[in-house]
Amino acid sequence: MKLIIKKAKRAFNRTKIPGARWVINQYIGCQHACKYCYAKFMCRWYDYGEWGSWVVARENIPELAEGKKVEGQVYMSSISDAYQPIEKKLELTRRILEVMDKGTELSILTKSDLVLRDIQLIKEFKDISVGLTVNGFDKEVKKEIEPLSPPIEKRVNTLRSLHEEGIQNYAFISPIIPGLSHIEEIVEKTKGFVDYYWFEFLNLRASGGKFKRWLKEISPESLEILSSQNGMEEQVASIEEIIKREGILAKGVYSHYP
Ligand code: SF4
Repeated sequence: MKLIIKKAKRAFNRTKIPGARWVINQYIGCQHACKYCYAKFMCRWYDYGEWGSWVVARENIPELAEGKKVEGQVYMSSISDAYQPIEKKLELTRRILEVMDKGTELSILTKSDLVLRDIQLIKEFKDISVGLTVNGFDKEVKKEIEPLSPPIEKRVNTLRSLHEEGIQNYAFISPIIPGLSHIEEIVEKTKGFVDYYWFEFLNLRASGGKFKRWLKEISPESLEILSSQNGMEEQVASIEEIIKREGILAKGVYSHYP
């Protein structure tokens, strides 16, 4: 993995991510290298090779974030995973949590159990939520499309640990691929210890041509549903049914259908 150290101009940038006003990206690029990753468009500006093979670490973000007060929710992170493997060594995310104003409304979304390392720091924040992406793929599918991210069971256990530690948590069920994602199963596995859910269908356009070709080969019917308005309306309705049936709190269901 190629590591590039850079400096940023500011710690917080405005965002249109639902529910958030600011985003903080101490890393650009992600070692988890998910094949469908929406952030791989960053390769247009960072010409270091294939998505997943490089990471830019913005080493001065902790200094820039120190004590700074921002109104509205800060989302960590949108073009990387704040707890990807390199974080074990660099501890950039940890240093940000150490110096950030503890009144900041912060939402951390990750696929990694490494977030548990920082549990004591997380507890210092007055308004914080920690989400784990759990997507209900079979092992073989996960191996194909996100081979380097932690196993789903580890993420489920992380959600349980966060709950046991009294930290507000959420499950981000994403990306949902009709026919390949077992949504009800993952909801049943997690609902006893998850505060709320977000559901998001695969964003076909952002997933890129290569991923679309893979999906067409593996499951053409999934691609057909994701490309059809009727198909997507039925899918969204089926998620709403699950939400009702399981009695869970959901903050949103995103279809990305144009
Ligand atoms: S963990 Fe998130 S940011 Fe990292 S490659 Fe996967 S989808 Fe992209």
